[in-house]
Amino acid sequence: MTTPLDRLRQSMKGAQLDAVWVTQPENVRYLSRFSSPEDARVLVTPEHATLYTDARYTVQAQQESTLPVHIARGLAVYEHAHASLVGLKVGIEANHLSVAAYQDLQAAWPQSTLQTTRGLIEPLRMVKMQDELAAIRAAQAIADAAFAQLLPQVVAGVSEAALAGKLEQAMRELGAQGPAFETIVASGERGALPHGRATDKLLQDGELVTFDFGALKDGYHSDMTRTVAVGPQSDEHIRLYRAVLEAEEAALAAVKPGVRAADLDQISRNTLEQYGLAEYFVHSLGHGVGLNIHEGPSLYAQSEDVLEAGMVITIEPGVYVPGQTGLRIEDLVLVTETGYEVLSASPKTRL
Ligand code: ZN
Ligand code: ZN
Repeated sequence: MTTPLDRLRQSMKGAQLDAVWVTQPENVRYLSRFSSPEDARVLVTPEHATLYTDARYTVQAQQESTLPVHIARGLAVYEHAHASLVGLKVGIEANHLSVAAYQDLQAAWPQSTLQTTRGLIEPLRMVKMQDELAAIRAAQAIADAAFAQLLPQVVAGVSEAALAGKLEQAMRELGAQGPAFETIVASGERGALPHGRATDKLLQDGELVTFDFGALKDGYHSDMTRTVAVGPQSDEHIRLYRAVLEAEEAALAAVKPGVRAADLDQISRNTLEQYGLAEYFVHSLGHGVGLNIHEGPSLYAQSEDVLEAGMVITIEPGVYVPGQTGLRIEDLVLVTETGYEVLSASPKTRL
């Protein structure tokens, strides 16, 4: 079985790097399994890989890290790493490392060549390992159970903020470390805001209300959107809902290894076009989910990404009619050898 470190060493060869200094927290966690990566770094050299963190984490790092641990702080970290880097070309993460840290590294490692990299480790994270999948499944199961508890309370007179709070509390009680991101609850006209955060607005009969939320478990995220009816709905709302559900299910049905992400995006837009609604679908179809809530692959018109078994993606078309209403339906989906498995189990038919 290939480990994250094996995968990275392959990429380093391709990029002609001798070593990599990893600072981006999710990348540090991916390589080491250490659960406080904001206070840690990983150095990968031709022969060794080391997790650096400070004395607050001595015990935790020994328990969790799959890499040898060195405890140090501040410039002492760079001094320790220096010895193994003389004469080497060292990759750094341009998307994360601060200018100040870059200058410190230049001063601390005068006999090494620093080489900026972008997206060296992130693509390796797209195809999930078994323990990563288990964490994502657990996070999604928590979100589904919390939503089932919430549904009877989605009635006229309750505020969006109250529902968001109940949902997040339920996820914590069910074992989540917290919400995967700030819970979105958008009702009535506010449904036209794709990322409408919960406000003190009260739900009213005849409105649609969109919930977009997830749980965080062992560092991994879940992501799901459901739109629910508050009381009886107009014919137009029912038409919009059917269109989005059809667009979501059409794209979902096409998920399998080898399919281009851009083609899935097009399938959902074609369905909405048949309803005259394509212009109201203003964002991309979906994204990968893992240690970050948004990661590769990217599902949008210009994406070069191609699906592979083991990727975890979202399929999330929506329509947003400014000043009137809006809705989205999002599933969390595992790409399998033969097609797909929907990880989000909450019903999509309550209207
Ligand atoms: Zn979402
Ligand atoms: Zn999403």
